[in-house]
Parts: sequence; C-alpha cells; structure tokens
Amino acid sequence: MDYMKLSAYVDSRKREYLDELSGIIRIESVSADPLKKKEMVRCAEAISGLMREAGIENVELFETQGNPLVYGEYVHADDNPTVLVYGHYDVQPVDPLSEWETPPFEAAVRGDDLYARGSSDDKGQLFMHLKAFEALRKLNENMPVNLKYIFEGEEEIGSIHLEPFIRSHKDLLKADAVVISDTAMYGRDIPTICYGLRGMAYLELSVSNSAIDLHSGSFGGAIENPVHVLADIVSRLHDKYGRVTVPHFYDDVVDVPNEEREEIARLPYTDAEFLRQSGAVAVYGEYGFTTNERLWIRPTLDVNGIYGGFTGEGAKTIIPSKATAKVSMRLVPDQKSEKILELFESFIDQIAPPTVKVTVRKMHSGEPALTPIDHPAVKAASEALEQVFGKKPYFIREGGSIPEVLTFQEALGTPVVLLGFGLPDEKSHAPNEHLYLRHFYDGIKTIAILFEKLSSRGFAPGI
Ligand SMILES: [Zn+2]
Repeated sequence: MDYMKLSAYVDSRKREYLDELSGIIRIESVSADPLKKKEMVRCAEAISGLMREAGIENVELFETQGNPLVYGEYVHADDNPTVLVYGHYDVQPVDPLSEWETPPFEAAVRGDDLYARGSSDDKGQLFMHLKAFEALRKLNENMPVNLKYIFEGEEEIGSIHLEPFIRSHKDLLKADAVVISDTAMYGRDIPTICYGLRGMAYLELSVSNSAIDLHSGSFGGAIENPVHVLADIVSRLHDKYGRVTVPHFYDDVVDVPNEEREEIARLPYTDAEFLRQSGAVAVYGEYGFTTNERLWIRPTLDVNGIYGGFTGEGAKTIIPSKATAKVSMRLVPDQKSEKILELFESFIDQIAPPTVKVTVRKMHSGEPALTPIDHPAVKAASEALEQVFGKKPYFIREGGSIPEVLTFQEALGTPVVLLGFGLPDEKSHAPNEHLYLRHFYDGIKTIAILFEKLSSRGFAPGI
C-alpha cells in the first residue's frame, strides 16, 4: 500500500479521532471501583460500537464473573497470518483528584499531549488499533492479515478473568502472533520494540527460635538471636561482585548474543538520567554488566522487606522470637520459577545454623517471556516503525513482568510483540496522565503498516 496515501488519510482524520477517543475516555471505567460496574459495561459496549463501525466482524461481549471481555475478528485472508490484538478498556482510579489540572475524564489537548485518564494506558492505544484497522479497510480492498481482537476490563485489577477465558477459548483466539500496545517507548520519537520480560519468584524467609520474645538479660548470649541469623543469611545471598550466591542460580540463564548487547548499548542511556529518575546515590549491580543489562538480561535477588523484634519508640531488652524477610527474584530465560525457589530453599537448608528454625514459604511466581528478535512479527514491527518514524527502532526488554503476556504465550503458544506507544513519563497511573499526540497518530500508521509487512512476509502459520 502507498504509505503517503495512508499517512495523508490518518492526518486528515485527526479531529475525528480526538472526538471519538474523548467519547471513550468520558466513560469512567475504573475497574477498582465497585460503584462503576455500569460504567464498565457501558465502556465495553462503546468499544464494541467503534469496532463495528470500523468494519470488525462478529463483535461480541463475553460476560465473566467480573467485567465483560470484548471480542471481534476479521478473518478473510486465507493464506496470510493471523494477528491477535490485546488491549484493556479499564483505567486506574483518579485520586488525588485535586492534582489534576483538567478533569480526568474530559480529554484536553495541551501542547503536544492529550491529557486524560486512560489517554495512554490503555484506551488511547487500544483506539489506535481500531483506527489502524479502519484506515486499512478504507484504503485497501483486502485486509493484509487476519485479525482478532480481545479487550478486557480488568487489567488494572489483575486480569482475573482473562486467563481462564484464554484457556477455554484457545480455538477462538488462535493466532500466529499477539500484538499488545500497552507499554512505553524509550523516549519521545524514539521508536522502540519490547521483546522480553523478566519472570518472578517470590518467597518469605523466616527465622524463629523461642515461642515468645525473651528477656535479653536472662537469655541473651545463651540462645541464638533470630534477627542476627536472618541478617547473616541475607548478607550471604550476594558475593562481592554483586552475583547471587545461591548454587546453580545461573545454570539456566541463556547467554545473550553480542549483537543483542550491542543493541542495548546503542540506547541513549546516561547514569545521570537514571539517577535522576531513581533518586538513588549511585548505580550498582552485577560486575561486568551495564545498567540496562542488569535490568533486562540478568536475574536478580532483592530483599523487599525485613522485620522482627522490637521496632517501636525507646528501648526494649528482648531476644526476638522471630525475624522475617520478603525476597523477590527477577528471572530471565530459561530460568524456571519453581526450580529457582527450590534452589533457594536448599541453599537456606545448607547455611541455616541448627540453633534456630528456618523456613521458606513460597509465594507467587511467573516465568520470563521472550520473543526472538528475528521472529517475523518482530521484524515486521521493526520495519513498520522505521518507515513511520524515519529511524531504526531500538530493541528493549523490560525488567518487570506483564502477566497477560505470559498467559498468551503459555496458553496459546504464541509469541507476543509489545508495540507500545506510551512514554515512561506519561504518568499512566498518576494524576495528569497524558499521551504524546505525535505517537498517537504515528502509532495508527505504524500498526497499519505492520499488518501490511506481515502479510507480504507471509510467514507460515504456526511459527
Ligand atoms: Zn495498561
């Protein structure tokens, strides 16, 4: 398709796009607020309406125990790949309301940005997909790919009903690639594709001794102090090179090829900016790796909290009966959370002294996710971004986890491309959330071009 034609078409519709998006934003679909149940259904219906207007077929609301899921499809391109698009129509609460410069549910353009709750996360980005579809339909007789859409209304409260729905509708949702636009680019006009997320293993480590706190005069020095033991264990979890000391912790970590590390090094990163964002004193981490590598391609272990004994005002002379630490480990491919938790537990068994009782309680976990950089869908997204933004995109990973990505990957066996158009400083969960309008319009063009590129690539179904 002629890119100039597409670009001109999208540019000619800016006014209508903003009006329509404002209509969706006006619906107060705050999933965390039990009083907004009706708004959730209204929002799902409004999205369905936009889908039908765009030409998406078989649009349907699937009721759940919570908020409805919205499905739609356009499956006519027999030999071409099928893309499943995910987005969410629910938004975060708006409080503190007094900090908003304009009312959160009234979309307002200021400077280069559109301000409103949901503008970036994720109504604005979901809307880009509908408009990309519409543009392709208007300009093209044949859709270049088959498309399926699934939009949920519970992302901000943990996607409770999405996972069982995906598992029970595998045929309906079957696709060759999943595209999610719900993340941020690295910066303004810096096209970015996110292709990897770290996993997570969470546990609670407790050291206990006596049944109750004991008098430190009567017992101090004659029994082991759980706080001392816990502090000792915590201090032994890393070596002086910042490496995790749990034996075999790194066994399954896949070596990242040099070219990928070069990609990461190409990013416009500075320590100064990183320290400004974090407010920390200095950068720190595993020896031999850069900050972005430490965040994205290396596994880590952190104590999230530690407590035990007397922590109130003044003094109290006790030997605490118990001390506890919360520990999270961020995992990278091909580490498995279950195995890592077991390795941790056996290391603790090994180093725990016999003078106290030490227990490890496993909590939640999730696996790391990675879409190969040379996957056809990633390549197509990269070419589309380059065409629209006029420069080669950066490939980034994300240090955190996005549960729905895993669910798609595990339940459907389908790779996920995170093609987000937000920005890290768009305050997606805070007052004055906004969306950079250039990314909004360019995002619509990029998505349309992505589908074109995927079609001409013609990658075999099932890859
Ligand atoms: Zn989101």
